[in-house]
Amino acid sequence: MPQIELRNVSLSYFTLKSETEALRDVHLSVENGEFISIVGPSGCGKSTLLSLISGMIQPIKGDVLLFNLPLKEASKRVGYMLQHDFLFEWRDILSNVMVGAEIRRMDLKLAKEKALSLLDRYGLGGFAHHNPNQLSGGMRQRVALIRTLMTDPDILLLDEPFSALDFQTRLNLQDDISSIIRDQGKTAILVTHDISEAVAMANRVCVMSRRPSTITTIHNIHFSAEQRPSPLDARKQPEYTQYFNRIWKELEGNVSAING
Ligand code: ADP
Repeated sequence: MPQIELRNVSLSYFTLKSETEALRDVHLSVENGEFISIVGPSGCGKSTLLSLISGMIQPIKGDVLLFNLPLKEASKRVGYMLQHDFLFEWRDILSNVMVGAEIRRMDLKLAKEKALSLLDRYGLGGFAHHNPNQLSGGMRQRVALIRTLMTDPDILLLDEPFSALDFQTRLNLQDDISSIIRDQGKTAILVTHDISEAVAMANRVCVMSRRPSTITTIHNIHFSAEQRPSPLDARKQPEYTQYFNRIWKELEGNVSAING
């Protein structure tokens, strides 16, 4: 049974004066523990797709199912990671990580134990009582992911979480985030405009067309290495350039169709 299923999903945004048809007839099926990347021209509807999967918005046509059940409202089984970490500067790292637990009125003693153990496990144990401005951009994004993990979502939606970071930090953080997500056994959907990131991190890469957008191709990413390589090592695999070039060409077609 797929964990996430989109069947014939279409979505338009309406204002008083106009209609923007964002998505048309999108099909997608994601299994437990998969890591999916979504690439497509800017403004084609990638973030919209994530909003649909989170249950924050509903399709005008078609169905979104999580765990085989139609999604009617924002789901607690889904967590978000965004380009900005939205850490509260006046709270230390531990109390930032605890925010979700407080909002959901979880047992705070247990939540604190869990927060400290997650920070410890993922290399941030020594920073629990630091303020966010004492951490690097990459560390802040790791804190943001740990904050999301506190409420134990099954599905993580990652909307360009690396795009505000410098190149070196971005590469290292991709390795960190990827290993945390796989270690936790979560299902992940990453929206990115960076093809190399999409190929290096995911099991499958979905390519979207221009608006009204749909998923035109799904690439199964397979490396011949015995064990699944980290995103950094994936870039050194012989298959990597082939995937990159194939997806690049497809996207170029999509983008030039917009400009043409
Ligand atoms: P992407 O993430 O691929 O850049 P989005 O999903 O953000 O694209 O947006 C898809 C299209 O829908 C864009 O044309 C955008 O301007 C439009 N759009 C997004 N959100 C809204 C909204 N709340 N109201 C009206 N139009 C929107």
